[in-house]
Amino acid sequence: MGNRRKTRHLRTVVLSMAVVGLFLLCVSIFYQGLLEPIASAPAESGGVSLPQAASLPESAPEQQAASPAQREEASSAAASMEAPAPSAPPAVSSEAPPPESEAPPPPPSSAAPVSSPPPVSAPEGDPYPELYVPRQEFVPHEPGDKVVYLTFDDGPSNLTIPVLDVLDKYGVKGTFFVVGKTSEADKEALRQTVQRGHTLAVHTYTHQYSEIYASPEAYLSDFSRMRNLIYETTGVEPAIYRYAGGSVNSYNKATARAITDEMNRRGYVYYDWNVDSGDAQHGSTAESIYQNVISQTSKYEKAIVLMHNSSVKKDTLDQLPRIIEKLQEMGYRFAALDPTVAPINFRLPD
Ligand SMILES: [Zn+2]
Repeated sequence: MGNRRKTRHLRTVVLSMAVVGLFLLCVSIFYQGLLEPIASAPAESGGVSLPQAASLPESAPEQQAASPAQREEASSAAASMEAPAPSAPPAVSSEAPPPESEAPPPPPSSAAPVSSPPPVSAPEGDPYPELYVPRQEFVPHEPGDKVVYLTFDDGPSNLTIPVLDVLDKYGVKGTFFVVGKTSEADKEALRQTVQRGHTLAVHTYTHQYSEIYASPEAYLSDFSRMRNLIYETTGVEPAIYRYAGGSVNSYNKATARAITDEMNRRGYVYYDWNVDSGDAQHGSTAESIYQNVISQTSKYEKAIVLMHNSSVKKDTLDQLPRIIEKLQEMGYRFAALDPTVAPINFRLPD
């Protein structure tokens, strides 16, 4: 009896020693494997820790899709001309991570476009499952509410931050329909636009009319590149867009309807304008820009004003303070577009 008890006791002791030994072994392996990223030791089971640690470096690069990627700058300008390559990969090819603290919300789990938000209504086989946004109700414009939506196309550029500075000075929010530019300065301009509370929206990646309006597929391909650049740089999921050249132009007569139907199906809202500053027209001057905006806006309670923000639109920048002051004096308030603002659209061909 006593003997048996002794044996049992011995067995228990040996067993528990073995368990403790095993545990210590695990712990030592655990720390050896994780020499650098110790801090991240997850609160989960020890066994999982190795693969977890391994996945760390993988998730880092996609975080810095938004951070300095100098070598890509050189290629990007050329690439933006017509290279059909998707915009995502080059952004990932940079080095050290220093994750920015105010970096975008939950980043995509990989740089590939497929990994973005849940493709709510994407049918099987949709090549762009990330290109869906929730459709929102339009808030009706209140009669008597004099509102101006300043919109800036074709940025980012070296004039983006100067425009933001002017808008900030007056406490005015604007809307930026941007194109595919990927230098670090341009990406910084995108981030600033968001951080300062303005709306970032899709214009086009390439701005090549004959390419993007060839078919709905071609349009989506270009659109997704621009959406990805915005999303990966700022964390913003753009929900509104403006067609390059406006929704009615000489390049999309055959495809405008189909493209717009497809974009509507995906929840996106597009905006044309009812006030044209004329800053993209030949012979425009600082004075003509100012006069165009003021005289045309005065005809409406709700004005969507077309301006440009490419690097040559210095006159537009210079006239901005004068335009804002005059419109404020005329009783207008300023707002940024968002998907609850009913759009002003040209009449599409049937
Ligand atoms: Zn444009």
